[in-house]
Amino acid sequence: MNLVEKAKKGVHLTRKEIDELKNRRFRAIVKYAFWRSPFYRRKFKECGIDVDSIKSVEDVSKLPFTVKQELRENYPLRMCCVSKEEIVRVQMSGGTTGQPVIIPYTRGDVEKWKELMLRAFYIAGISSKDVIQITPAFGLWNGGFGFHFAADAIDAFVIPLGAGNTRNQIRFMVDFGTTVLCATASYPLRIAEVAEEMGVNLRNLPVSKLLLGAEPWTEEMRKQIEEAFGAKAYDIPGLTEMGGVGTTGFECKERCGLHVWEDNYLVEVVDPETGEVLEEGEEGELVYTSLTREAMPLIRYRSGEVSSILSREECECGLEYMTVRRIKGRTDDMVIYRGVKFYPSDIESILASYGIKHYQIEVGNGILIKFEGDESLVPSILKDIKEFLGFKPKLLPLKHGTLERSKGKAKRLIRV
Ligand SMILES: [Zn+2]
Repeated sequence: MNLVEKAKKGVHLTRKEIDELKNRRFRAIVKYAFWRSPFYRRKFKECGIDVDSIKSVEDVSKLPFTVKQELRENYPLRMCCVSKEEIVRVQMSGGTTGQPVIIPYTRGDVEKWKELMLRAFYIAGISSKDVIQITPAFGLWNGGFGFHFAADAIDAFVIPLGAGNTRNQIRFMVDFGTTVLCATASYPLRIAEVAEEMGVNLRNLPVSKLLLGAEPWTEEMRKQIEEAFGAKAYDIPGLTEMGGVGTTGFECKERCGLHVWEDNYLVEVVDPETGEVLEEGEEGELVYTSLTREAMPLIRYRSGEVSSILSREECECGLEYMTVRRIKGRTDDMVIYRGVKFYPSDIESILASYGIKHYQIEVGNGILIKFEGDESLVPSILKDIKEFLGFKPKLLPLKHGTLERSKGKAKRLIRV
C-alpha cells in the first residue's frame, strides 16, 4: 500500500479500530519511552511508576506531565529514544515565547509526518493535479517542509517559495496558476493587501484552497480570507513537539472542530493551573501523548494550546475520530485584566466583524487596542468589548498600513 492509500485508509478507521490501536500503541509507547529514554526512565522511577501496570489509555492520568522546560534542559538530544545514527533530521520549536527546542526525527517519523499530512490533503481534496505554493519558511521551523513532504509525495506541482517577498508570491500565483496556498493564518490578508496594490484580483486566480495554521485565527478572519480569495480556507493544526504541521489532526469537512488523529496522538484537556483533567466541553490546555513517534515520543506533553473536547461521537462528516475546538490561543497569551481572562482571538472576533484586518493589543497598566480602521468605529467596538468581555480598553484607530506586517506569525499581543 502506498502512502496515499495508507492515509486514506487511516482517515476512515472505525471507532473500534481507533480504540484498539490507541490502547495497544499507548501501552507500547510508555514501555518504549521507559526503556529507551534515560529521561523517562528516571522520571517514571522518581514518580514510582511501574510501566507494566499501565494497561490502557484510562491509566494515562497516573503518568506525570512533560513540559517544555524539560525539553530545553535536555538540549540537544538527551530526551531521545534512538541513537544519533537513526536520526535523519531535526526541526526547531520556536513558539511565541522562550528559547527554542530541538525535535529529532527518524526516517519513520518523517514518513509518518507525510502520511498524516496526506490525510489532510485527502480530506481537502488536494491531488497530483494541484499547484501547491508553500509560503512558510524552509529551515528549522517545520512549516515549509511539512507541506513540502506531502505535496512532493503525491507528485503535485510544488512551488517551494518559502517566506519570500509578498509581491513575488503573488507573481508566482498568477504565472503558475497556484491552486493551493499553504501559509500561516495571518499571511493571506497581507497577500490580499499587496495584491490590491498590484491591481491583481485574487478572486480571479485559480487558488481554490488555503491551508492555514501556526497561529490561532477566528471564524471572522476566515470569512475575510475566503472572501478575498474566493477560496476555501482550512485550519491545519500541528505542533513541532508532536512532529510538526499537519500531524495531530485536521479540520472537519463540516467545520465542526478539528478531528484528532487518535491512532497517533492521545489528547487530554487539563486545567492549566492545577493540571486536573477536565470533562468534555470544558476549556483548558491540550495535553498530547505521541503514540507513534520514534525519535522522541513525548508523554503527556503540556502544549500550551487552549481548546476543549467537542465530541467523541461519530461526526456528520462520517469520521469517527474525536473533535476538539479550533485552538483559541496559547496559555501564555492569556491576558487577565481586572479579573477578566481573555485571549487575543476574543478581540479579533469583534474587530474582524467590523471588517478590521490588522490590529495589535498592548497590555500594560491598561489595555490599548490599536487597529487600522476608521475612528467612527470606536464607539461600537467599545460597546461590543464591554458587552462580551466586560471591560473598556483604550482604542487607537490608525491609518491603513501603519502596523507592522509579518510573513510568519503575526505579533498580536505586546506586553509593555
Ligand atoms: Zn467531522
